Amino acid sequence: MALIVQKYGGTSVGSVERIEHVADKLIDWRKRGHDLVVVVSAMSGETNRLFELAHSISEHPVPRELDVLLSTGEQVTIALLSMALHKRGYDARSYTGSQVHILTDNAHNKARIREIDSQRIHADLKAGRIVVVAGFQGVDDEGNITTLGRGGSDTTAVALAAALKAEECQIYTDVDGVYTTDPRVVPQARRLDRITFEEMLEMASLGSKVLQIRAVEFAGKYNVPLRVLSSFEEGDGTLITYEEEGMEEALISGIAFNRDEAKLTVLGVPDQPGVAHKILGPVANANIEVDMIVQNIAEDASTDFTFTVHRNDYRKALSILEDIAKELGAREVIGDDQIVKISLVGVGMRSHAGIASTMFETLAREGINIRMISTSEIKVSVVVDEKYLELGVRALHEAFELDQAG
Ligand code: ASP
Ligand code: MG
Repeated sequence: MALIVQKYGGTSVGSVERIEHVADKLIDWRKRGHDLVVVVSAMSGETNRLFELAHSISEHPVPRELDVLLSTGEQVTIALLSMALHKRGYDARSYTGSQVHILTDNAHNKARIREIDSQRIHADLKAGRIVVVAGFQGVDDEGNITTLGRGGSDTTAVALAAALKAEECQIYTDVDGVYTTDPRVVPQARRLDRITFEEMLEMASLGSKVLQIRAVEFAGKYNVPLRVLSSFEEGDGTLITYEEEGMEEALISGIAFNRDEAKLTVLGVPDQPGVAHKILGPVANANIEVDMIVQNIAEDASTDFTFTVHRNDYRKALSILEDIAKELGAREVIGDDQIVKISLVGVGMRSHAGIASTMFETLAREGINIRMISTSEIKVSVVVDEKYLELGVRALHEAFELDQAG
């Protein structure tokens, strides 16, 4: 019998009724002949509630104890789901992360999975049981409970699917798949039947927060087919896999955007070796992540240097730059925190020229000024003023006919 690992997120197990509904769904899968390992999140809102409890005791709770606390959310749902399965006459067993030896490093609150000992799970499956595992948690070498960072249950599911060599890892959530873009911005956005790992990573890191990025990376690394689907509606969801030989790939799979951007420019920087390092070194040391970087050709002996950061880091980056500019003898520092990034993503771009120029033409027709451009093999990104976000995304969605199945 083909083994499937399924993960149900917080809203899917957010009430007793919903847990019962998940139990019914599991039994349907079981009747279709599948072995099942199920990973669940805490009931929706529970992890936040526990977080707040901890912070009502201390502003900086001890990380080890925070993990002991946060991991309890998932312990509730595994037990309730197993009970619901037993009530329906099915044998099931719930396990915490440490009980099934989800071994992690000791980085409390953001631990990484090192290894899973799947023996116990295999024995249960062999005995015909449905195995229910608490997501988001593990145990370190010394037996301390660890957690994997917010949204970490996705990663638990993928890691289990890899360790157990499952046929597929299915992530059940409150959306029915991955869309060509955010349907709140473009109502014609279409659910994708499939998308590659690479594309999904670009879409996810650009702000389409359907899956934890780390889970997608993990699935790609171990080649675990990953499917995102709704726990409330029937449907096949979106399958995330590698590109298949001979498959006709769509040119563009989707449009991602990120509202939380800001850009900073140092004007009139002397054009000398070491300048990029002098500007970006202190920014990196302040733990500020830099995204796009553009340096102009020097016309005289000086040049302009522009980069983008997360909007939350804007003020901090600005004040760092003002100090550096003085040291470097640069003319001026300017910035703008009312910008957004829009990106076209698609593996089909590799084999087609002209995507970028169609993108620029479309934006020009709408009178949208492009502030910055960057490209990679499967992505073209532009920075534009925030007020043009919706207009830009809609125009591009139409220009590339993303509402129509490829
Ligand atoms: N319960 C955890 C969280 O809310 C883990 C998860 O749901 O994936 O972040
Ligand atoms: Mg989640």
